[in-house]
Amino acid sequence: VKIAVLKETRANEKRVALVPAVAEKLIKLGAEISMQTGAGLSVKLADAAYKNINFVANPQGLVSEADIVLSVQPPTADIVNAMKDGSVLLSFVYAHKEPDLVKLMRDKKITCFAMELVPRISRAQAMDALSSQAALAGYYGALLGATSLARILPMMTTAVGSIRPAKALVMGLGVAGLQALATARRLGAMTEGYDVRPETKEQAESLGAKFVDTGVDARGAGGYARELTAEEKEKISSVVTKHIQAADLIITTAAIPGRPSPKLISKAQVDGMKAGAVIIDLAAEGGGNCEYTQPGETIQVGQVTIVAPLNVPSLLGEHASELYAKNQLNLLELMIKDKEFKLDWEDEIIAKTVLTHAGDIKNEAAKKAVE
Ligand code: NAD
Repeated sequence: VKIAVLKETRANEKRVALVPAVAEKLIKLGAEISMQTGAGLSVKLADAAYKNINFVANPQGLVSEADIVLSVQPPTADIVNAMKDGSVLLSFVYAHKEPDLVKLMRDKKITCFAMELVPRISRAQAMDALSSQAALAGYYGALLGATSLARILPMMTTAVGSIRPAKALVMGLGVAGLQALATARRLGAMTEGYDVRPETKEQAESLGAKFVDTGVDARGAGGYARELTAEEKEKISSVVTKHIQAADLIITTAAIPGRPSPKLISKAQVDGMKAGAVIIDLAAEGGGNCEYTQPGETIQVGQVTIVAPLNVPSLLGEHASELYAKNQLNLLELMIKDKEFKLDWEDEIIAKTVLTHAGDIKNEAAKKAVE
């Protein structure tokens, strides 16, 4: 099986889809690997760090020989055009943002496995790149919060008196939110968490946080949240506003699959926040959780700072690449048996992760968004 690994070209993307330790394992599985020259340099992995790999400067030439192409971000159209008809791509895609690319892959009969479609089931945990990357983002969000404040998080006793711990509120307690909560707590903040899925109460409490209970249950399909009704929003706002206004640091992570980020913090709520407070909006990629958020920017609204970084996992590129490469390896282990590439369509993970195959868009939601 010939595997090709691309150098990432999108703005702000520092990750690489393969690290040396994972390359060794793929070679043991029976893969012959080629990489684009300098693919790992953005995370300080020189070509020489990879053993028994062939380096190719031209990306079109690289993919034209491959059975399987690996990347983090979806490749550009000229790369997909250079791929062999019927070959395989493993990458994040987010079909609703890439309609033309998805159609191109359909027409070229590319078998594309979109990393964001890996099902959230126990057996697929080791292949779940959304989770591995979100955990890093949550950690980073808490650190960014700590350094964006002009105050400290922990209680500190000094010769001139004690400083009270900061209050950190995390809104959206999925993988990123729980990691943000845990990290803020380790840094000494008093932590509170809030989500619309009731099972997150126990998860927040196990991390030493207080759960802000709004009484709203918005569990949707597949363990995700659904969109809220106007009435539910009203009910939540009546409970959450005073917690927003008491917070020194707010970290937001709320998302609904395939939808723009829900707005959890209104302009009026920001206007009522404490002077010097900071919001770290980790949902900026989907438009942000705060009405004032400008994705990719740090803005000042009155005395409140709103920080909305894009592609946060890439800022921790070394570990993000390591975890991502392992996620892809675990997925490839389902597909390469006895050194042969073979797809078992009865396998739920393979059947649910596939985006395009044999001239068709296989994922129903993507098909609706694209065609
Ligand atoms: P996500 O990124 O889709 O969303 C982040 C959080 O935002 C979620 O907890 C969601 O409930 C919350 N949210 C959405 N709208 C909100 C609103 N209006 N107000 C407050 N919060 C809101 O979530 P995720 O981190 O990808 O995790 C989603 C689910 O998948 C969780 O139940 C998680 O435990 C589960 N999961 C399961 C596995 C597995 O079993 N393999 C792996 C990872 C995650």
